[in-house]
Formats: sequence, structure tokens, C-alpha cells
Amino acid sequence: MMLLKEKGQNMREKLRENCAIFGITCNDVGYSVTNLLYRGLIALQHRGQESTGISILKTGGKIFTYKKDGLVSKVLEEKIISQYWGNVGIGHNRYATTGAVGFTSSLYMQPFHFKNNEIEFSMAFNGTIANFDEIKKRMDELGRIFITDTDTEVLAHLIGSIALGTENWPEILKLTSNLLDGSYSLILMTSKGEILAMRDPLGYKPLCIGELKSEQRNLYFVASESCAIDAVGGHFLRDVKPGEIVHLSLQKDIHSELLIKANRTAICQFEYVYFARPDSIIDGVSVAEARLRLGMSLARNDPILDNLEIRENAIVVPVPDSGRSVAVGYAKEAKLPYLEGLMKNRYVHRTFIMPGDKKRKIAVKEKLNPIKSVVNGKDVILLDDSIVRGTTTQQIVSLLREKGGAKRVHLRVSCPPIISPCYMGIDFPTKNELIAGRFQNLFGENYVEEIKKKIGPDTLLYQTIDDLTQAIGKSKYELCLACLTGEYQLKSVQKLAELEQSIVKSRT
Ligand code: SF4
Repeated sequence: MMLLKEKGQNMREKLRENCAIFGITCNDVGYSVTNLLYRGLIALQHRGQESTGISILKTGGKIFTYKKDGLVSKVLEEKIISQYWGNVGIGHNRYATTGAVGFTSSLYMQPFHFKNNEIEFSMAFNGTIANFDEIKKRMDELGRIFITDTDTEVLAHLIGSIALGTENWPEILKLTSNLLDGSYSLILMTSKGEILAMRDPLGYKPLCIGELKSEQRNLYFVASESCAIDAVGGHFLRDVKPGEIVHLSLQKDIHSELLIKANRTAICQFEYVYFARPDSIIDGVSVAEARLRLGMSLARNDPILDNLEIRENAIVVPVPDSGRSVAVGYAKEAKLPYLEGLMKNRYVHRTFIMPGDKKRKIAVKEKLNPIKSVVNGKDVILLDDSIVRGTTTQQIVSLLREKGGAKRVHLRVSCPPIISPCYMGIDFPTKNELIAGRFQNLFGENYVEEIKKKIGPDTLLYQTIDDLTQAIGKSKYELCLACLTGEYQLKSVQKLAELEQSIVKSRT
């Protein structure tokens, strides 16, 4: 894992999750779960679009793995679904943050199918291992040979080494988790057709289980998000608890073991703000409702709503698509009209990965166009989920004013200023590339005012951290807020973050 990021490594304007995992086990060996895997992975496509993979097994048979670069609909064609046939399976959508980013070799795709003379399993992983180097070194000393530079392969070798002494899978994963410092959810399919699911003790990444029982057969599911369980017609049972191992097997149904109960959790706040699908429920909280409350909270704290001249001329406009839920909440609380004031061209896919300011400006114009009849002469209250680099937001503000004829633009952001990188498996820019991180270093306390001047709205209001946690409905001790505070819960990460901060300071 590359913890100290090189400048320009992440050229995207939006943050990206890095993977989705999905597993199914069915007690009917005459039934194939591959089509359901397809449906679940399609529902989780927003978490990773670079490659798709599945491992399938018919109880008593062998594990077969198929993976390829591309979206689920392209990779899992009908002939593949009928060819890969089995009553137990796991699947994965990849968005690369480590290893060969953008490289399409199947070595970097998942599930990771591990096989040697002694043991065979397949594993799908979402997250990052912060003490990757240390574990890799130990594996190297044991003579393990690595063919990629991914933490997934290191983890698979670690599990493979531990599994040499026992076939007790919950015990193997328990011993594995004791050696890891990281943020992860993983599912593992054994050669006997059992599925084990594990979530790290702080619960950074979501993971949940569901079932579908009928007279003919029983199916159990484990998924990154509950929307995948809905997509296969399943019944959501519960979240996998932070630090829990869940064992799905045909003989014993579901049974679980809570390994470590930490005195806090660190569920990624960005799942609620942006990553997760609104129809998912994560750790007991509906994502759609959390986003609605985030918008309502912004409106409750917005001083411009006391200004009658602005209020009477105001409309609430989302940045499509990410600002929609929060704009609905804001408009509801403010009792102002919600209007689509920006048209998005859905067929332009290259906006966020274009290096260079000039190219990006052109790309934003290709992608977004203000609807003049809606925004002309108006006080546009513009809602977005977050500001990362600020360049796209700056463009949108300028388009609304110059092309759309907006009288004033008031920018409202549901996520507090993002001042620090994420080292927990999210594709993130460096501190210096984050507008709030850089400006905080440059301007100290007045940095939000300076961001406003740079991006260009007439007024700018960010959510506060207290209001964010309240709107999500979880305390500061349940959520990860590290990108907003610079305080990291993982030991290996805190040291590296301090090192990066000192490098950035010395350069500014
Ligand atoms: S640092 Fe931010 S993006 Fe990363 S896990 Fe924590 S809350 Fe999520």
C-alpha cells in the first residue's frame, strides 16, 4: 500500500470507494447462485467499476474463478453465468487504490483465488491493511513469493500460512485479524463451500447479512450494502458487527463470533454523505434519511434565510447527482422551492479524471449546463455533498452566474471541510491537493473565507462536525472523522499522517 501519496496520484474531483463484495450460499446443490451474484454486484456497481469477478463452487466440487476488467453487465454475460454454475459463490467489484491503478491484469482483480498443495480458498476484500509492509516482510521471510503489490495478496498468503495448522476457519480468521491493523471487510469461500465474513474491529467498511427462505431452498447473503440484498429479493437480517466473524454454512445456517469489542468504532462518515447508495441501511441508519437530515441541518443553521430580500428570490438547486438528497432536505426545512437548475449530460464520462485545469474546465462545460429559465436572476442556493479539490465547484459556480444569469450563488456543503487524506482504502488526494487542507495550512483560522474567495460563491456554508454526527445519528466515538479532523484511529496510519503533514508544512 502506498501511504505517502505522490502529487497528482488522484486526479478525480470526487472521492471514490474502492470495492464491493457479495457472497451467497444455498442449501440446494441443484441450484446455481451465479445469476443472483450478478444482480447483487450490479446493485453494488457504484463502489467499484474497474473490474468484476466471481468465484463459484458446487458443494463437493472445485472452486472456479472468472474475472475481467469492466462493469458487471459487460463481464458477467449470459454465457458466463450459465458456464459458472454452483450453489455457493462470492463476487467482487474493484476500484483500484493500491497495486496497479488502472492496470487491467487479472492478477490485480478479485476474488483472489488462493491454492497450493495444502489449501484452497477464494477471498474478496474491501479495504486496506495499514501494516501491510510489516506483514509482507514476515511473509517474505517465510519464503512466500508475491506476484502483485496488493494488500489482498499479502492477506491471502497470511491466511494461507495460518491455515496450514488447522481447518477451523473462524479460528484462522481470528488469528489473522489479531495480526492486522487496517480497515476492511472481507468474505472468504472455503473449498468445502462455507462462506466466512469478517469486519475489522473499528468497522470502517460496511458489511451486512440477509436471507431468502422458501419451501425449495434457503439462501444466505453477505454484502457490502443492504441494497444488494434487496436486489436479489432477500430479507435484510442485520449488519456484521465491527470485530465480528460470521460463518455461513449449509449445515449450521448462520453462526457468529464477536472477536474483539473495541471501546469505540470508526464507521466511515463518507458512507452516509456520499459513497453508499441511498436505499442502503448501514449500521442501523438509512442512508437516504441521513442525507435528508444533513440538508435540513444546513438550512437550520443558514443565516441567509433570515435575509428577506434573498429568501424571496431564492431557489434550491442540487449539483447533480450527488447534491440531490441533501438539497431536498434543505428545501424542505427552508420551505423554499427545489428546482433542477443544472442539466447533466450522462454520456460524458471523462470529467473527473482529466489532469490539468484547462482540460477539466472544458470537461465540466461538456458535462454540465445551467438551465437559464430556472436560474436567471435568482439567488441560487447550490447544494453539494462535498468539496474535494474545489476546481469543479469553482466551474459550476461560474457557469451558474455567467451562463445561467444567476443573481447570486450561495454554496452549501453537507460535509465539513476535508482537510486530511484518507489512508483507509478510499481513493483520496494528498493534503496539499485538498483545497481545505492546503488553505488551512496557508491561512489558518480564516481558511473557509479564503476558499470562498477562490471558488467564487457569494456566500459559503459548510456543515459543522457536530451537526454532521447528529444528522447521521451516531456519536464522534462511533464514526471515522479522520479526513475532517486529521486524527486517525489506526496506529500505523497516525504516524504516517504526521509525517505527511510535516512534509506538506515544510513545502508551504
Ligand atoms: S478518513 Fe474520511 S473517507 Fe477515510 S474512512 Fe475516515 S471518514 Fe471515511
